[in-house]
Amino acid sequence: NGSALADYEVVEVIGRGSSGVVKKVRRLRDGASIAWKEIDFGDMCDVRKQMLLTEINLIIQLRHCNIVRCYNYIIDREAKRAYIIMEYCPNGDLAALIKQHRRDKKYIPEDDILRWLSQLALALRCCHCRQGVKAVLHRDLKPANCFLDAGRSIKLGDFGLARVLAGDASFASTYLGTPYYMSPEQVKLCGYTEKSDMWALGVVAYELACLRPPFNGSTHDQLVAAILSGSYRPLPDVYGEPLRSIIADLLQPDPDRRISVEQLLDRPSIRDRLPPDE
Ligand code: ADP
Ligand code: MG
Repeated sequence: NGSALADYEVVEVIGRGSSGVVKKVRRLRDGASIAWKEIDFGDMCDVRKQMLLTEINLIIQLRHCNIVRCYNYIIDREAKRAYIIMEYCPNGDLAALIKQHRRDKKYIPEDDILRWLSQLALALRCCHCRQGVKAVLHRDLKPANCFLDAGRSIKLGDFGLARVLAGDASFASTYLGTPYYMSPEQVKLCGYTEKSDMWALGVVAYELACLRPPFNGSTHDQLVAAILSGSYRPLPDVYGEPLRSIIADLLQPDPDRRISVEQLLDRPSIRDRLPPDE
C-alpha cells in the first residue's frame, strides 16, 4: 500500500492496551507526528487474520472529523506484525480528563459535555449509517477511547478490532476489564446493535457529569445487577434538564425505547452545538 516501515521513525510509546502497543512516530517525508498501533498476529489462525484485515479495511474507510483517521497499514510478514497508521491526537483522552476533574473536585462544564456528546453522535452516525455498506459498530465506546485533538474536539478511536482480537463472537462474555459500559442486552447475551453503542454513549455522558460511572459493584455479578436494575444516582445540581433527559433517554434499558442517534442529533441542546456544516 505504498508505505513502508522505513518511512517512519519511532518517537515513543504512548499507550499499551488490550490490542497492542501504540507508538508516536515521525513521518520522515514531512516530519508529521503520526500514531501507529502494533498488532502481533503470530498466533492467529488464517480466518482470524483475514477478519482482522477486513476490519482494518473498514476502519480505513471511515472518514469523519470526529473519528481518528486511519491512513493505511503496513504488514511485516517476518515479525508477523501489523502496523495501523493513524492520526496522532496530542491532547489525551476523556478518561484522563475525568480523572483529573475528580482529583481536583471540579465538575466539567455542561457546555463541554454537550459539545462532546454532539461530536460523538456525529461519529457514531458516520459508522452506523453508511449507505449500502455494512455498519461499523464501535463496541468499545468508553472515555479512554475518546481522544482530544489540538482544538479539544473529540476523535473517537480504537475501533472494532477488540472483537476480532478477543477471538470470537462471544466478545461480550470474554471481555477483559470491568464492563462498566455494557448494556442490559449485552449482559443478557441478546446481541450487540447500534443501540448498544448508544447505551455506552449514555454511560460516557453520565461519567463526564458525575465523574464516576452510573453502574458499579465490587463484583462482576453486582455490576451486572446494577446495570439490569436501570437505576443510578441523579446528576449533580450544576447540570440542567436537557442533559439530564438526554442521559435518561440513552440509559433506557429497553433498546427499542432507547433514543437513536438521529433522535439525539435532533435535541435542541445537541443540534445547536453541531459544527455549521453538519
Ligand atoms: P487499546 O485500548 O486497545 O490498547 P487504544 O487505541 O485505545 O488501544 O490505544 C491505547 C492508548 O494509546 C490510548 O488510551 C491512548 O492513550 C493512546 N493512543 C491510541 N491511539 C492514539 C492516537 N491516535 N493518538 C494519540 N494517542 C493514542
Ligand atoms: Mg482503548
